[in-house]
Amino acid sequence: MKKNILLWMAVLIGMSVSIPAFWSDFGYPFAQIAKPSCRKEAWSTLDETCKMPLPRIANADYEKFKADSQYRRIYTVLWGATYDYGWDVGLGSHLGVDIATSAGTPVISFAAGTVTKSEFSSGWGNYVTIKHTLADGTNLYSNYAHLSKRLVEKGNTVTLGQTVGEVGNTGNSYGNHLHFQVDITDQLHPYYYVTCSKGKDMIALVNKGDCRSYLTSNTIDPVVFIETGTMGVAPPTAQVIETIKNTPSVVIQKQTIKSREEILNEESEEFLKSYTIVPNFPSRGSVVAVGSSYLFNVEVRDFDKKLGKKNIPGAGVRITVDEAQATVFPNNFTQLYGGKRQISISPKTSGPIELVFTIGKKEIARKKIYGMKKGDKIVTDDTETITVKKWFVGQEYDMYVSPLVGGAYYVGKNAYAGKYRLEVVKGKAKFCQEIPKKWNKCDPNKVVEVLEFTKKDTPNGFLSTRILPLSTGTIEIRVTKSSEKSGHTTRITGEIPTWLDRQNAYYDTVIAGLSNNWWKTNNGYVGQDEEMTTQMAKELISRVLSYEILKAGTNKEKKQLALNNQELFARSSATLESKKWSRGAFAELFLKSLRIPLDSYAPVWLDEKGEFQDSIGTLRSKYYFQWKDQFGEKYFQSDRIITLSEAMYLAGEVTR
Ligand SMILES: [Zn+2]
Repeated sequence: MKKNILLWMAVLIGMSVSIPAFWSDFGYPFAQIAKPSCRKEAWSTLDETCKMPLPRIANADYEKFKADSQYRRIYTVLWGATYDYGWDVGLGSHLGVDIATSAGTPVISFAAGTVTKSEFSSGWGNYVTIKHTLADGTNLYSNYAHLSKRLVEKGNTVTLGQTVGEVGNTGNSYGNHLHFQVDITDQLHPYYYVTCSKGKDMIALVNKGDCRSYLTSNTIDPVVFIETGTMGVAPPTAQVIETIKNTPSVVIQKQTIKSREEILNEESEEFLKSYTIVPNFPSRGSVVAVGSSYLFNVEVRDFDKKLGKKNIPGAGVRITVDEAQATVFPNNFTQLYGGKRQISISPKTSGPIELVFTIGKKEIARKKIYGMKKGDKIVTDDTETITVKKWFVGQEYDMYVSPLVGGAYYVGKNAYAGKYRLEVVKGKAKFCQEIPKKWNKCDPNKVVEVLEFTKKDTPNGFLSTRILPLSTGTIEIRVTKSSEKSGHTTRITGEIPTWLDRQNAYYDTVIAGLSNNWWKTNNGYVGQDEEMTTQMAKELISRVLSYEILKAGTNKEKKQLALNNQELFARSSATLESKKWSRGAFAELFLKSLRIPLDSYAPVWLDEKGEFQDSIGTLRSKYYFQWKDQFGEKYFQSDRIITLSEAMYLAGEVTR
């Protein structure tokens, strides 16, 4: 009883001065944060639709919010959790709560107090510590770490809600976030693990839950502290803090929550629905001298092949290369400049060097460059190696044919003297007769089954071409000198593209289409459920026409198909490249381009609007195929946006 009176007296005294804080005088360190989808952009560039009030974990009820992906993306690591699974409170020993948002998000003081530190350290980067004295004289120390900017100095008095800094990624940090930590002792900063377990990896310690006694004797869970306080209740005392400290932490099983990696992968997948990345090597043959550095761009492009302005979400783009062969810098990035990122590569060895580009778990692109040394020997003609191994059917890849002698590549000027043939002797693949200058695909009219080449095609001592694998399994490719009967054979493997689901209704037709070179995807990016844009529609139809040209018997037929192709582009030139095509409209464009005489087969061709809305009905009556959609096998929704698989199905049925 006596103690309570003293407490209330303390409250009254406390109210007359600004510094001592009351329980009710605490709040979260943010008024507003960036929505996760906008987080990659700087706070200063965000409009209001990208900002939101920081969601609260009401009553610190982690169980209630752990399944909410938005919460997990914002509160990335909780107090007492691990870095692997940010919400496994009770299993790790993270000292504070990590809150992710845009760089530059204003960080506010969680209570009135006095700044005791405003400095830079290697672990915490820019950080601010504020001392708060409670009504009973107990001190709390709030810490705001990894800031991009500190806006207060040591000795400053701050009020609740005052901006003290801006969110950043400084110190030991892997993304813009605030590490918000509340200490109940004036402990050693930046990190007491230094004293708890010297020399050990800090992240491993946290993930193992080591040093938990330090966690509970020096800090409190900030969310629990802020959320369990209520207006008009006695201010927190040492006992209250003791209670919080001694309350067994919630233990959330790892299996029930997504790991940070999974969340990053989700972000990456979202990004890949609209964009892809393209490594752009302007130099012919992508040849780089050993020992020198070469700069190239990695570009973010949308479906119109326009440069995207977005930065890379999640863990960003990772570029993997054999370290013995080359160094690449940077090999991991999220930041772009004008939709591009400049990368430097320095080969250490001669021969092909493969770069693999991944976003999250997904491989986005591969690029082979060629390391070349001065004084590489002129070699004999007897052996060749084709530097392609395992590729997806229907996609185009760079390929190099180079002499191999004694296990080393030679790229001397006269490696190929005489005439050579490059051809497939088992399986199916085609080669590009002309190397496309830019990153775009081989002209379909320049795709050949046998590629003949001479010295003039190998100015760097090796042949640089493109290959289009068209069958699954082993494909044998042979290089033969025309004056000889046998050549050197290399085996590659054609694989089903990962984007093509075997369960898909149009699987077989799409595979058939790929084999006919009707369609190939940009770096594996165009998925079966991708909706058809003008640009894609033109490309698909143009490719089918090219295939028809290859098949056509007479020159007259070839000419007509080429004319059709020209008309296709003229017909759709007024249409936005990014416009999505309905099934009916696509079927109409497709059939007109192939000059299929529709009306002679269609007793009821025009619908009441007088347009070609029931093209598929006509096709069905002519070709006896059925359009499968989610309503079964007979009902065709002409207004529905057509997907890549559906369009390939249509093309397959009509031209088969
Ligand atoms: Zn942290």
